[in-house]
Amino acid sequence: MNYDIVIVGGAMTGTTLALALSAFTNGKMKIAVLERQPVKQHQQSGFDARCIALSDGSCQKFAQIILPDGQNLWQKIQPFSTHIEQIHVSDKGHSGIVEFSAREFHLQQLGAVIELQQVGQILLQAVEQSDNIDYLCPVEIAHIERSQDGVKISLKNDRTLTAQLLIGADGTKSEVASAVNISQEMLHDYGQTAIIANVQTQQPHQNRAFERFTTEGPLALLPMKDNLISLVWCVRHADELLQADESTFLTRLQQQFGWRLGRFQRCGQRFAYPLTLSRAAQHVQARTVLIGNAAQTLHPIAGQGFNLGIRDVMTLANILSYAYLQQQEIGDDALLQQYENKRKADQKQMIQLTDGLLTIFANNLLPLQIGRNLGLMALAQSSMLRQYFAKPTLGWI
Ligand SMILES: Cc1cc2nc3c(=O)[nH]c(=O)nc-3n(C[C@H](O)[C@H](O)[C@H](O)COP(=O)(O)OP(=O)(O)OC[C@H]3O[C@@H](n4cnc5c(N)ncnc54)[C@H](O)[C@@H]3O)c2cc1C
Repeated sequence: MNYDIVIVGGAMTGTTLALALSAFTNGKMKIAVLERQPVKQHQQSGFDARCIALSDGSCQKFAQIILPDGQNLWQKIQPFSTHIEQIHVSDKGHSGIVEFSAREFHLQQLGAVIELQQVGQILLQAVEQSDNIDYLCPVEIAHIERSQDGVKISLKNDRTLTAQLLIGADGTKSEVASAVNISQEMLHDYGQTAIIANVQTQQPHQNRAFERFTTEGPLALLPMKDNLISLVWCVRHADELLQADESTFLTRLQQQFGWRLGRFQRCGQRFAYPLTLSRAAQHVQARTVLIGNAAQTLHPIAGQGFNLGIRDVMTLANILSYAYLQQQEIGDDALLQQYENKRKADQKQMIQLTDGLLTIFANNLLPLQIGRNLGLMALAQSSMLRQYFAKPTLGWI
């Protein structure tokens, strides 16, 4: 079967790219999305149990993708999301506290929290309604071969697909990257694991998100539907917390977070994610592009992984669809290079921001402790500084 583009990886980045390319070419581009995991059985990656925070800029990007039924993608997702009105940042054991509020930035929301499983269903339904997108799953790739004229992807069920361009949206240990000899560099192993769980609190969250830095690692609480909160707790020794009974786990969490939301009452199933910072040495190669987690995987401290990934998606979709409608060759090296050049600065800035925050807040050296408290106090005092700090993280790039 012949396609214009084959996307390997059918989760957040892969499906969003397929829908954006389809929308921007008025349903003309022929796209295949290959996914290894069966639908509704995603674990550890893809549409799994996680909740993630979308920046306001990412919500606006979803709104630019018009679906075959005339609605945009954000209109489909928004009813299932919880908006964030305020973000509260604190450092355990120190006085510095900063609050970012939507009102201050003249916004209705700073961002929104989505459940990946739920959004996965919305994205897959939209893909199903697009006649020009084939979502093939579960499938395994046997071989990838590139030539001057195109790409040939052989599947383990003996099926062969051909395309002008191959996109790797297949996450951290990208098979596409290794098939085309792009090395994945591990820039930092934080020695931390993120424990995620849904937690019920005594007091309503009032659409506030919390980020708290502790000596064990950062923890984030995101507002969810039904007045639940989604916990992302990054710790060094996860096993003990994963095995603890519910009441011990909640007591430990309470000790780290404090009482801003009253007593932590209940906690759902806990899941664990080891945390590293990794980046592909190149993001484009002959007839190949890597996007999302396949291009770079960040620590979730600042909640920027997919917010960065969707900017890869939209930049690539704009470049490719324009070329396609102009009847240019979409696998052309110069076009792919144009994409890489456009994305470099943003990717570098987000990697530095995330890694820098971790270094500053994970360190107990006295000058750094004083420095970060002064930093938080300065942020608390100055609206201009807060705007400067929030700009990249709100996704207005
Ligand atoms: C605890 C935690 C909290 C986070 N919180 C936030 C947040 O608040 N905000 C935010 O923006 N980001 C957040 N992130 C990051 C965000 O979840 C990811 O950036 C995003 O989900 C990555 O999507 P992806 O589609 O690029 O990759 P993945 O989710 O890794 O999906 C890759 C897909 O490719 C498939 N695949 C892999 N190999 C193959 C193959 N060979 N053939 C076919 N298919 C294949 C996989 O099955 C998977 O479905 C968080 C991450 C973690 C771990």
